[in-house]
Amino acid sequence: MEQQPNYQQLLDEIKELRWQLEEANDAIDAIRTGQVDALIVKNNDGPQLYTLKSADQTYRVFIEKMNEGAVTLNQAGIITYSNSKFTELLGLPFEKVLGYHLNDFVHGDKAIIANVIKTSWDKDCKAEVDIAGKNGVIPCLLSCNAMEFDGGLALSIIVTDLTVLKENQKQLELQFDQLEEAQLLTQKLNDELEETVKERTKDLTISREYLKLLTDNIPQMTWTNLPTGEVTFYNQRWYNYTGLSHHETKEWGWQDVVHPDDLPLVMERYLAALAIGGIFEVENRYKKHDGTYRWHLNRAIPLKNEFGENLFWVGTATDIEEQKQAMDKKDEFIGIASHELKTPLTSLKGYIQIMGIYKKEEVPPAIKQYINKASIAVNKLQHLINDLLDVSKIQAGRLSYQMKDADLTEMVNAGIENAIQMYPDYQVEYQVEPQLLVHGNPERLEQVLNNLVSNAAKYSKQHTKITIKAQALDGHVRVSVTDEGIGLSDEQREKIFERFYRVEDKTFTTSGLGMGLYISAEIIQQHNGRIDVESELGKGSTFYFELPRLK
Ligand code: ADP
Repeated sequence: MEQQPNYQQLLDEIKELRWQLEEANDAIDAIRTGQVDALIVKNNDGPQLYTLKSADQTYRVFIEKMNEGAVTLNQAGIITYSNSKFTELLGLPFEKVLGYHLNDFVHGDKAIIANVIKTSWDKDCKAEVDIAGKNGVIPCLLSCNAMEFDGGLALSIIVTDLTVLKENQKQLELQFDQLEEAQLLTQKLNDELEETVKERTKDLTISREYLKLLTDNIPQMTWTNLPTGEVTFYNQRWYNYTGLSHHETKEWGWQDVVHPDDLPLVMERYLAALAIGGIFEVENRYKKHDGTYRWHLNRAIPLKNEFGENLFWVGTATDIEEQKQAMDKKDEFIGIASHELKTPLTSLKGYIQIMGIYKKEEVPPAIKQYINKASIAVNKLQHLINDLLDVSKIQAGRLSYQMKDADLTEMVNAGIENAIQMYPDYQVEYQVEPQLLVHGNPERLEQVLNNLVSNAAKYSKQHTKITIKAQALDGHVRVSVTDEGIGLSDEQREKIFERFYRVEDKTFTTSGLGMGLYISAEIIQQHNGRIDVESELGKGSTFYFELPRLK
């Protein structure tokens, strides 16, 4: 009976086997890396020599070190050699690779690799296959070529890992797709933009033509000017009227066409409008190409951008020569008519006065009443005719009267007494400083005060307060009349001193012709004074005038 080895013997045997294994591994490594060319291994058939006869050291090292996998197949497709890169790729030890069929490591369709290997024996070929690697499927390129080795034909295959390449390719494709998408989008935007530009250009051309047609065909002359005052554009009518070129009248050239007498007022209004960014409005005469002048009404409004800044003014000059002439004729007629009316009216007034004081026979009370009423009516008529005469005198520049040093306090007190008598339905209050001396015409100044008081009563309800004040103020004398009436808007305030101007107020209708304030303004101006109003619509007004005070 065979004797069983004891424990120590077994240990020794294991130690011996391990030593042999290490020796064999070292030897294989040495051959692989080219440190030795051959290896003698003892086995049952006696010592055997293993060598890589056809590969010299340099190539062996090169193949071992290269980044690609390298395998050799025999004609049965069995792997007879593999470099470490290929085993690393598979994540398997050599002994699990060598001696196996390459098919075993292919993922998916094995028919492809079988076909490639079959073809490669006749001619070099390449193919992409998926290898089942340690971390999943690895896309690889196989470059196969058959070679004559010592022992016969062998197929050498270089295995290139395409993972990074594929990944890059994928990224590239992705980027390419994105690029293509972006390009398409850009193209689309570009097309849209081109379309919009085309449409806008068309619109612009149409609107420019339209604007030109419009501006050249309206009956007014038009212009545009910058916030700094220079004129940048005129319509054709301007050139036709003035007979001048754009070069001659552009920027400030228009001043030469304005009548020299009108230029100071035009400049004052123009510069004021530019300064406050407001509406420019003035009447002046423009010189025509034949040397004659015609009256025009100018009006320009500023155009603002979204930030409220003035971009430019658009102005029109409307020919009002005919209206002016008609107005002059009307003034002339009013002048003559009121003058003609004055004489019979004065006689009428005289007769009524005589009738009033007739004592010889007792006049029945009813007749006395009629005489009184006739007297009031005649006074009103006289007042109206006097106003008409004044207006036509002002128009003709002939309103003149005597001036002297006068006590305004006396004049105001007389006016207050008159107001208390004339307007018993109003609460007349007053505050008058003594000895307010001025240089002027007391009758005319009283006319102004009476007009202000009569307006205060006319434009407010009965039983409201009317306050009359006269006071000294910084070298001036100021007379004011305050009411609690309908008041005035800013727009109305600007116009009430114009001739024949009346506020259109349907809720408060009173008679009048819009002459009183015009005459008052003229009188105060002739006294080197200032007349103005402070007012709030619906709350009341304070009309006042200021005159230089005499010491
Ligand atoms: P009128 O004869 O129409 O009163 P005026 O020249 O005296 O003429 O006044 C011009 C316009 O100014 C009036 O029609 C009226 O609209 C307005 N006005 C004058 N005074 C007052 C006032 N105290 N309150 C409100 N509006 C007034």
